[in-house]
Amino acid sequence: MGLEEYKGVYVFAQQVDNELSGIAFELLGKAKELASDLGTDVTAVLIGSDVKGLTDELAEYGADKVIVVDDPELKEYRTEPYAHALSSVINEYKPEIVLVGATAIGRDLGPRVSARVQTGLTADCTVLEIGDFPINAIPGQEDKQKHNQLLMTRPAFGGNTIATIACPDNRPQMATVRPGVMQKIEPVKGAKAEVIEYNPGFTPNNKYVEILDIVKDLSDTVDIMDAKILVSGGRGVGSKENFAMLQDLADVIGGTVSCSRAVVDNGWMPKELQVGQTGKTVRPNVYFAIGISGAIQHTAGMEESDIIVAINKDETAPIFDVADYGIVGDLNKIVPKLTEALKEV
Ligand code: FAD
Repeated sequence: MGLEEYKGVYVFAQQVDNELSGIAFELLGKAKELASDLGTDVTAVLIGSDVKGLTDELAEYGADKVIVVDDPELKEYRTEPYAHALSSVINEYKPEIVLVGATAIGRDLGPRVSARVQTGLTADCTVLEIGDFPINAIPGQEDKQKHNQLLMTRPAFGGNTIATIACPDNRPQMATVRPGVMQKIEPVKGAKAEVIEYNPGFTPNNKYVEILDIVKDLSDTVDIMDAKILVSGGRGVGSKENFAMLQDLADVIGGTVSCSRAVVDNGWMPKELQVGQTGKTVRPNVYFAIGISGAIQHTAGMEESDIIVAINKDETAPIFDVADYGIVGDLNKIVPKLTEALKEV
């Protein structure tokens, strides 16, 4: 089968407890853009148990078709049955591009599926576009350049370089995509998709893992990826106790506290509050960077914020290069004053 017979941009529409994850909408937004460049359509692959009720929502966010794999075996995410379901869909329908979120589920699922369907996978992408590969052909060898390839860009070598990767000789082209980076589209109320039910069949071989119990995180903290205002602290905050000062500021302005990796490594804050390359990518309306130097691995996760306010005693700190507003000085003096001032507003 020739590569040109693979058609369409497919999105793994991740759901948990029959609720679509934010990444599903973000991937659909990007898929729509790629599909329009290729002159093709967008298909969401919805895998779960009793999930047919979610197809309209996927249509509203950009899916032209939804392939539903619905089976009681698929109630909770487990590697084997999900990998079997998604790779069977790919083998049956032959998509040109498959996008999976770089979530805990997607990072587990994507590589297994790519190995099963014998193609490559570029992990943790932050930019996806359609273009020529090689991007700059050697003069005189332009005829060897392949057109309409998925160019997948991701940070490499600890974020110190950016690599653009293509998969010119295999299909589908597969990528996992970092959550919080792609933009979802405005939903089109009442939009409908063609719904295709597909059952690849489940055998006992698909049941290597049995779920005995699910323990939910019952903390009432806001996910930093959903927060509109983040008050983020770095090593410069000095101690776990000093984060109370950032919490006071956050309380006054309706914000959520987040942090740099140095803070997590010091044990001052839990990992789920970490912003950056190995933490979460955030895009709040306002991001306060307090006592954070602005290492590239940190800014990779927050530079798309609408407004960045940096407070740092070192006027040469790289955080000021990405900040919209900067205050040079001791955070121990500035933060309480700022909190008091904002109480008045
Ligand atoms: P520092 O670099 O120590 O900066 C502290 C800042 O506080 C300084 O600029 C200082 O001037 C200022 N300061 C000190 N005292 C005060 C004061 N009293 N008032 C005002 N300012 C003060 N980092 C992340 O954050 N997220 C990631 O996801 C991440 N992933 C990584 C992945 C890899 C592979 C690697 C190699 C590194 C990663 N890092 C990540 C680490 C990153 O390189 C930096 O080491 C880290 O971001 C530094 O954290 P920081 O800015 O809090 O601390």
